[in-house]
Amino acid sequence: MFPSKGDGWRGRIAMSTTDASQRSEDRDRGGLDLTNRLLMQVPADQARDFWSVGDDDGGGIVVSGASALTAASARAREMTRPILVDRRRYAGRNRPRGTARFDPSWLESQRALNAATVLTDSGYVGEGDQEALVAILEQTTRAGDNVCAVLPLHISWLADPGVKLLAGEVNQHQVPVALVLEHASDPLGTQYAVNGLKYLLRQAQVPVSLLCTDISGLGAIAYGAAWAAVGVTSALRHLYPADKKGPPFKPSPARHAIVPRLMTFMNVERIAEGWARAQRHEDLDENLWRCWCTECGNRTMDRFATCTDLSLAIHNISILDALHQQVTGPDSWEQAIGDALRWYLWMQDEYHLTWDPPAFMNAWLPKSRR
Ligand SMILES: [Zn+2]
Repeated sequence: MFPSKGDGWRGRIAMSTTDASQRSEDRDRGGLDLTNRLLMQVPADQARDFWSVGDDDGGGIVVSGASALTAASARAREMTRPILVDRRRYAGRNRPRGTARFDPSWLESQRALNAATVLTDSGYVGEGDQEALVAILEQTTRAGDNVCAVLPLHISWLADPGVKLLAGEVNQHQVPVALVLEHASDPLGTQYAVNGLKYLLRQAQVPVSLLCTDISGLGAIAYGAAWAAVGVTSALRHLYPADKKGPPFKPSPARHAIVPRLMTFMNVERIAEGWARAQRHEDLDENLWRCWCTECGNRTMDRFATCTDLSLAIHNISILDALHQQVTGPDSWEQAIGDALRWYLWMQDEYHLTWDPPAFMNAWLPKSRR
């Protein structure tokens, strides 16, 4: 029995099984239910550091890159939360097209590892490349149980008419999909992309998730995505276009920390600038630059300029977990954005800092609806 058009995959799952029996099946299979989970996506060479980081009751880890299987296998027995493995064959200058065949041993090894779901080692789906899209979905239908099609997409696939074609193909092939969205900065920083994603989430009759995302992953879950994986490094928070000249970041990559009240991944140098401004004016409320997470312990956020990458990442994960608790649907997601935008205005009034809010906020909550 299928739901009526627009019910999305959650409606269909609800009709086919209860949550309890689903969880029981998951346990029998050795995996864990991924629904509503916010995972962290880590590079394979840093997987060890992150193994025990994060919320014990939720979360999970997506180990990424060509050596991800080796890195995950080494510690899989110690893990009580879901593990996923993303080969990221779709990234970099020599990436194959989505028509490339999956490597059966890569998929089988994930089963041996007891991965919560098997992620396909897909190639890239360029603008209008329907052949590549269909090749990935078709191969996934033949790849056995509990396989999720990784769809690394040119951002035009979220615009009209691409997104209608995408929804149609996904529903026709009936396999869960995990999107990786390509953009030089923020794939979900435009209204057309966000609206396209909302459309896909409404129309899909299968679970749709996001890999390599950022704070917008919470918005996606709020609008019905099954799960989302937020990168612990900038390079893992989107798919950088391979055809751009030069490296995606300066030789020494910028470090970004979430400023909780501003709900923004901000360059640590800029955070230090905000803190310095508060120091120069005694009458300014400095709480904006303090963090209450367990890693920070109410210290001021200028510490991010000199702290370790791991400490920075643990802070980010703590703040994301707290936001995930708070955001339970579209209303609370929009409320969280509205609150952050008010802090930006407050900062402008009090600190005379006219920093632009990140583009995703206007994309999810257009000015006309505030
Ligand atoms: Zn913190």
